[in-house]
Amino acid sequence: MSSEETVVSSFDELGLPEALVASVKEIGYETPSPIQAASIPVLLKGESLLGQAQTGTGKTASFALPLLSRIDVRQNSPQVLVLTPTRELAIQVAEAFQRYARDMRGFHVLPIYGGHSMTLQLKQLRRGPQVIVGTPGRVMDHLRRGTLDTSTMKAVVLDEADEMLKMGFIDDVDWILEQVPQPRQVALFSATMPNEIRKVARRHLDGAQEISIAAKTSTVDTINQRYWQVSGVNKMDALTRIMETENFDAAIIFVRTKNATVELAEKLEARGYSASALNGDMNQALRERTVNQLKNRKLDIVIATDVAARGLDVERITHVINYDIPYDTEAYVHRIGRTGRAGRIGDAILFVTPRERGMLRAIERATRQRIERMDLPTREMVADQRVKQFKDSVVEMSAAVGADMDFFRKLIQQLTEENEISLEDIAATLAWKVQEKRPLILPPEPERPPRERNERRDRNDRNERGGERGERRPRRERPTDVDFVRYRIEVGRSDGLQPGDVVGAIANEAGIESKYIGNIRLYDQFSTVELPDGMPSDVLNHLQKTRVRQVAMNISVDKGPAPKDEPRGDRPPRRPRNDRPRGENRGGRPRRNDAPRKPRSDES
Ligand code: AMP
Repeated sequence: MSSEETVVSSFDELGLPEALVASVKEIGYETPSPIQAASIPVLLKGESLLGQAQTGTGKTASFALPLLSRIDVRQNSPQVLVLTPTRELAIQVAEAFQRYARDMRGFHVLPIYGGHSMTLQLKQLRRGPQVIVGTPGRVMDHLRRGTLDTSTMKAVVLDEADEMLKMGFIDDVDWILEQVPQPRQVALFSATMPNEIRKVARRHLDGAQEISIAAKTSTVDTINQRYWQVSGVNKMDALTRIMETENFDAAIIFVRTKNATVELAEKLEARGYSASALNGDMNQALRERTVNQLKNRKLDIVIATDVAARGLDVERITHVINYDIPYDTEAYVHRIGRTGRAGRIGDAILFVTPRERGMLRAIERATRQRIERMDLPTREMVADQRVKQFKDSVVEMSAAVGADMDFFRKLIQQLTEENEISLEDIAATLAWKVQEKRPLILPPEPERPPRERNERRDRNDRNERGGERGERRPRRERPTDVDFVRYRIEVGRSDGLQPGDVVGAIANEAGIESKYIGNIRLYDQFSTVELPDGMPSDVLNHLQKTRVRQVAMNISVDKGPAPKDEPRGDRPPRRPRNDRPRGENRGGRPRRNDAPRKPRSDES
């Protein structure tokens, strides 16, 4: 029951209906990811499937696309049921279905989860969505009440089955599967395959195809690998800060879609870099031209998709930036192999969102190398680097300038005599003029607008927004769409704990936005803190080991009685101040050498 990795270079080859192929191409997907290439043909045939894949591999499309093609939009009854561990994922998956089905008139998908108004859900269910995406608890509720009809269901997907197991939903999942009449197709996706999951698979997926994307081990010891945990500062701003402070000669930036290659190239160009896109939409001649321009220094940055960069060999590439995480570990190894060539040392930087942490660990396991966490360069670091480059460029220019300098010397002399301006003032004015478009003094960090729902924020951002020591942060509304669960942490007042420590640790380590950190209560020996229901277990595992005031938090769901004076869910959380000093540098890896990147002559 095992499947070899399939090499498919285009969505046209998978047997999907034309409208869906057109839709993914429009979204900007160039080639199917390995899990998509392997799963789509199996699910299109109506067969069941057991897929080992994590978030970030493109697994959502690997079931959404083939199942969409099996849906009859004229029928207003549930045909596909997707179970997800969290409501956040339910919403994401429902959105993905909607996106891929944008040209399917009459198609409806409905996410259902706890905490959402039942009356509204019943009304929405009566409208006859063909795809239901829900968390096990709420799906069970509807099945018991008879408000979710399974008689017309053709397929059930278990997404992140191991997470559902860890959250204690596996028996519910088992029960739900029993309610869906045969013959039905089941697709089970899981990042790991513990015994309990295999048991479910044996019971409900007999004869299913098993697909796993094998990770080959490779060594990449000529490359320094780092990752930045994405949140708070948007990826584009983070990228520019990194490009300003890294000492790079040429760089290749990997993104997932061809649209993103163009978008990023434009943004970098606007910021003064010589950058260009490299994607599968470009014909061979144009691609070769771009690579040649990179070789002969007409370009410094290329933004590429995996396919377009295949086999790219340019010695001067010092940096590979994985702006979007790759689908699998092999793609990662391929990507970073574009640097560190010809015996040189290269740098690879990976952007990892909190949900993609599993993929980061998988990469570390496959390459048997640790990827170091890096901090985003602060604005001060960017400014320092600009000053350094400015000084160097003036020195370089004065050595290289070929013009008749006597004329200019006389001009400056006249200026001082005629206007009684000192030489320093003249020089300072000219220096100011030169840096006008690329200022050497950066304004302070701007206030950010409140983030979108569910978006997590980076600790740096929180620190910078949190203000100076002692400054109280403005109280914000507790989100109304989130169910909180009370957790217990094994650190208390007797350890010297303050609420700010708890917020700091959780925000820093889990990247959770402050409004999603609910009430905090301190007791002598322990404390409690409210966090959103359905916290991913990798985040909780990480928080268990996180130390505050030198003590491991050992976080666990609080089984004690709810505090009487604080009914759950209807009081705004306290807003403890954040104690971390502004712009604190958490010790990034030192750069290879301090020589500045040579600015382009036309760089502003
Ligand atoms: P998933 O693993 O399903 O959570 O997908 C991760 C991200 O990859 C999502 O943002 C998808 O939109 C994107 N994605 C999925 N398949 C492809 C593809 N074939 N090409 C480019 N991006 C993709």
